[in-house]
Amino acid sequence: MSQQHIRVRFAPSPTGPLHLGGVRTALYNYLFAKKHGGTFILRIEDTDKKRFVPNSESYILKTLKWCHIEPDEGVGYGGPYSPYHQSKRINIYRYYINQLLNNGYAYYAFETDDDLGIKRKEYKNMGLTFSYNYENRNKLDNSLNMTKEQLKKKLDICSSYVIRFKINPGEKLKMHDIIRGWITIHTDQLDDKILLKSDGVATYHLASTIDDHLMKITHVIRGEEWLSSLALHFLLYRSFGWDPPNFAHLPLILKKDGKGKISKRNPENFPIYPMQWINGDTIIPGYKELGYFPDAFVNMLALLGWNPGGKREIFSLQELVKTFSLSRIKKSGVFFDIKKVYWFNKKYLISKKEEVFSFMCKKMQKNFILYEKDYLWKVIHLTINRIHFIHEIWEHSFYFFTPPSYYDTYFLRKIKNNHEQIIFKLKNAKLSLYKINPFTYVNVKLFFQKYENKCRIKMMQLFRFALVGNLKGVDLFTILEMIGKKESIQRLDNLINKIK
Ligand code: GLU
Repeated sequence: MSQQHIRVRFAPSPTGPLHLGGVRTALYNYLFAKKHGGTFILRIEDTDKKRFVPNSESYILKTLKWCHIEPDEGVGYGGPYSPYHQSKRINIYRYYINQLLNNGYAYYAFETDDDLGIKRKEYKNMGLTFSYNYENRNKLDNSLNMTKEQLKKKLDICSSYVIRFKINPGEKLKMHDIIRGWITIHTDQLDDKILLKSDGVATYHLASTIDDHLMKITHVIRGEEWLSSLALHFLLYRSFGWDPPNFAHLPLILKKDGKGKISKRNPENFPIYPMQWINGDTIIPGYKELGYFPDAFVNMLALLGWNPGGKREIFSLQELVKTFSLSRIKKSGVFFDIKKVYWFNKKYLISKKEEVFSFMCKKMQKNFILYEKDYLWKVIHLTINRIHFIHEIWEHSFYFFTPPSYYDTYFLRKIKNNHEQIIFKLKNAKLSLYKINPFTYVNVKLFFQKYENKCRIKMMQLFRFALVGNLKGVDLFTILEMIGKKESIQRLDNLINKIK
């Protein structure tokens, strides 16, 4: 038997920027396709005009590119099953809805939204919930309750209708999900969903079922929010006489504090979008703009709901492709922790020293600072463990190249209160520094050891403040040795002048 060619699709609706969950869905589809030598397709599900947001599509394309998970086929890439925009496939859906109507699987319903609103209210007043289903449809204004002639007449005078799917009660549906196993749903619980809206456009359910079939999708990998639609989709396939694809519903991504799932309207203080989203005057930065590496971001997302078994956490995209399997995806919701994302970025940063080096070179050139390559490498090795993002390196290492241009105001005020004594101490220290020969780490350390313990700490603080401008930075003796005697003395002088 020849092996099935795997075809999966990522099918976002252009209703705004992708968020973390959307990118993870795309990623899992990509990994699964690549692992099996299959095809990863991008389909844009743009039938809902009311929710359409301009620029979403280009955002989606740019994001997939940034993450290096580009489709093989679909919007922006072409392919044998075009068009890949659902808005350009309206006639296809019409053809198939006619098939369902002719075979008795769907029917016309003439209630307007207002009519249904009134019905819902009536039911609510009786303490019930209205549902357009097998129990109620016989009492409603639809083609199930009309003769062919009556329907024809109605359609002649009434152009506004929807087409609903007719669910037959009394059946226990058994469906399989790769992640969740067997799922049983009784058809009595289902309502007759709209397949074609009054504007003549197919709903998601109809369009995606038809497209998944026509585009020969073998595996539908999508978010858990679609699990409740599985029965409907399953029945749609059956009505068309088609074999359903395999389904895998991914776990929800939850906020770490346990307060529900993360969403686009996420009020927490962590980024939700992969890249910056511009909405009128508001610019919402994404992971890219905040300095995250795409491979770190992708690695983090891959492990948000899937685990390869074992303790290893760092995987390149190729390694993810090799290791990925749908069977190791979790069923239950997964917690998103921004601290873990920092952690991933740091891990990747440490393996990207060359990039840090070239960032620093550019910074130096911009600031007209002369430097030696070996010296710069040494600085990078000394400071890289203190940062999570490339752009933080300068703030943590400038003092190796240039005196501080700014002193921490709190500490400055503190020493100014006692400036005569401090100046006296600094001047004395300066004289002693002159005498240190050679000006090495060990000798500098010896110099400080002459001070009593309490005084030593104070003196070291003062030195650090003079060299760095605050009380941060790497080991003091290293800084002194690295910048040298002349520069160290100069910085002590600078501080003396500052507090005078
Ligand atoms: N258009 C749907 C969405 O944006 C896709 C759901 C699916 O993958 O079937 O969530």
